[in-house]
Amino acid sequence: DTVPTMISGLFHSFNKMSVQLKEGQAVKEKYEQNRKELIAGISHDLKTPITSILGYIEGINEGVANTEEKMQTYMDIIYKNAQYTNQLIDDLFLFSKLDINQMDYNFELISVKDYFLDIFVEKKIDLEEQGAKVVYDIDLEEDFVMAIDSKLVHRIVSNLIGNAVKYNDKPNLNLRLQVKAIEGKEHGIMVSVSDNGIGIDEAHIHQVFDVFYRGDDSRSKDVGGTGLGLSISRQLVEAHGGTIWAESTPGTGTTIHFTLLDQHKEVNHGEDINY
Ligand code: ADP
Repeated sequence: DTVPTMISGLFHSFNKMSVQLKEGQAVKEKYEQNRKELIAGISHDLKTPITSILGYIEGINEGVANTEEKMQTYMDIIYKNAQYTNQLIDDLFLFSKLDINQMDYNFELISVKDYFLDIFVEKKIDLEEQGAKVVYDIDLEEDFVMAIDSKLVHRIVSNLIGNAVKYNDKPNLNLRLQVKAIEGKEHGIMVSVSDNGIGIDEAHIHQVFDVFYRGDDSRSKDVGGTGLGLSISRQLVEAHGGTIWAESTPGTGTTIHFTLLDQHKEVNHGEDINY
């Protein structure tokens, strides 16, 4: 895919959306407003890290990074910003693919404990370096195998953790990551990500999974984002036969739960397997 294809995909989605919206001018205007804000948001979100990258490269060219230490700091900042830009573009690609139903899922068998332990340890190390406190709990009587799209599930967890980091005004982020088996369902799990952040008020709690929805706080406080993360997450969860929902107390924190069901029939051409 190229950026122009992706952008034309996005416009295709907007057109499709406006065709579906025959209910009235007000709704149409709301979508038009969201579209404008999305474009402004994407431009802003891309511009900020790229401006920083250019600034630091200029600094290097002018010889400002004249010690090994300074050079390392400059390189780290450039790398971080490039990584962020890459992530944002990935989200846009992913969103437009989901939106035009051209997603190729790659379901594969994973061992639930090992898989989540890897992700949780990676996140714990990363976030604790930044001063957060992370606890995790993989609450399974015994490990089992299930088929998921491992890259995409990693993406869901990363999205949720990214939000926990962004929507937090406490001195330290407290994060709790949990996996449980779903009672009465074979080879199904519930994953929960809890934070001690700003929370979501009740009036908006269902809207957060809507495409382009961004909380007023997120806009006014200029927290980077596009309003795509939770909508992408919801679609990826649904592709695993699951659901996603939020529980929150404003000022205290938020927990996002999602379920995943085994997709082994997709791996095994509709046949049952012996676990
Ligand atoms: P984005 O973060 O790009 O705005 P998302 O789709 O990830 O988009 O989230 C939509 C909105 O839901 C956010 O703008 C924010 O208002 C709210 N939100 C999401 N996660 C959290 C959280 N952990 N705590 C508080 N608010 C949240």
